[in-house]
Amino acid sequence: MNIYSVVIRDDHHKSLIEHLVRLDEQEDLCFATYVPSTGLNRLSGIITKVILPKKGERRVHGNVGFLPSYLERVLRIASERKEGVAFLHSHPWPGWQRMSSDDIVAENRMAPAVMATTGLPLLGLTTGNDGSWSARFWTKDDSIKRKYNRQWCETVRVIGKSLKITFNDDLLPASFDKGKQLRTISAWGEKTQEDLSRIRVGIVGLGSVGSIVAEILSRTGISNFTLIDFDGVEEKNLDRLTNVFKKDIGRSKVDAIYDAIKRSGTSPKIKIKKIEYSVCEKEGFKAALDCDLLFSCVDRPWPREVLNFIAYSHMIPVIDGGIMVRTNKRNTAIVGADWKAQTVGYKRACLECLGQYKTENAALEKSGLLDDPSYVNDLPNAAFVNAHENVFVFSSHLASLEVLQMLSLLIAPSGISDVGQQMHHFVTGTMETQSSQACHNHCFFPTIIGVGDVSSVIPYGSHKIAEESRESRRE
Ligand SMILES: [Zn+2]
Ligand SMILES: [Zn+2]
Repeated sequence: MNIYSVVIRDDHHKSLIEHLVRLDEQEDLCFATYVPSTGLNRLSGIITKVILPKKGERRVHGNVGFLPSYLERVLRIASERKEGVAFLHSHPWPGWQRMSSDDIVAENRMAPAVMATTGLPLLGLTTGNDGSWSARFWTKDDSIKRKYNRQWCETVRVIGKSLKITFNDDLLPASFDKGKQLRTISAWGEKTQEDLSRIRVGIVGLGSVGSIVAEILSRTGISNFTLIDFDGVEEKNLDRLTNVFKKDIGRSKVDAIYDAIKRSGTSPKIKIKKIEYSVCEKEGFKAALDCDLLFSCVDRPWPREVLNFIAYSHMIPVIDGGIMVRTNKRNTAIVGADWKAQTVGYKRACLECLGQYKTENAALEKSGLLDDPSYVNDLPNAAFVNAHENVFVFSSHLASLEVLQMLSLLIAPSGISDVGQQMHHFVTGTMETQSSQACHNHCFFPTIIGVGDVSSVIPYGSHKIAEESRESRRE
């Protein structure tokens, strides 16, 4: 692990700020519990429970401090819940907070007891008086007895209907080129561009929609990309893949789109991780957990289910889109073409409840049956399996809608971060919007919000088609 981050739900954030940011400008403190969310390179802590001090458990005036009984109570709660301990305090000034020497001594002193009781590193957080956070994990140094190393987080992500991120300027400085981004910055200002230049975006599926999403994001100045796709470029893809050409036939899509982003990107510091796996395989799944938000540009039920799982259990918002083209029986005329864009995750309805995939079809795909022609031909509603009709202009409109959903989530212009599910109908030229939808009463996904690694479900598995696809390129 070399990257660290924290996720806080907005209701927890609200109660923490109410307690920690005091009108009398004194500093204050409290504890919380957290669960780990472990990606390929990033460890995130997801705050699970705020444990405010009871009367007499801490003193505020003078130098803020707590009594041993408070930490003992917190350690009891954490070990009962089998979770980690977070120690939080406030400073009366704004922005990403560094630590005083007293802060370092206090957290360093707590780290061994917390590790011994919970088996997880102490997580320290500091909030400024503007609600921004800083954070660090205290990991055990195996080479020296009783030594704990401070690992600064690069971000703290507060997730509600919007996603608000505080960045660590030392680890993740803003990077944009004012000359190349002149027009973009004049639209939404430098602060927005600073934030956009630092988010970690994952694009899952680099087909027609995913390749355009990559192009839009790279022009917009996004710097940190994770590209997840196991597939290779074929001749039949050339009518719909953006920035992919004849010479790319036979290469992996991640390689081809990597080159495309390098060419189109306006950020001076572009970093691209190429993951030649499906998000349904362990490598792809773990790589997705390194991202702050994910684009679901897949058209199959299993990857949609995996992304839906990540959106709730690991609290990484997923922006999804889908296109449905209907033709007459002889495939000679278009009857209808509709596409939908939606953002799912905490406080929003999930992909299954929005009708974007069915659990039983995800299970069929996982078992391999969905790719068995003899089985699929007997399915009553199998049309979706081979529904590949598409036109470039549909994909480009959908890709644009998806990136707009991302901007609403991050920038929340006029306070609006959730524009709802958007459905565009080609035939009538109309757009329908359904706002504020919630999951059905018996939906599984709201029950796993923020469980992180602590889940009884493993959504990934072995993926024969992906393995064969990689193998064919190696030959
Ligand atoms: Zn402090
Ligand atoms: Zn649901």
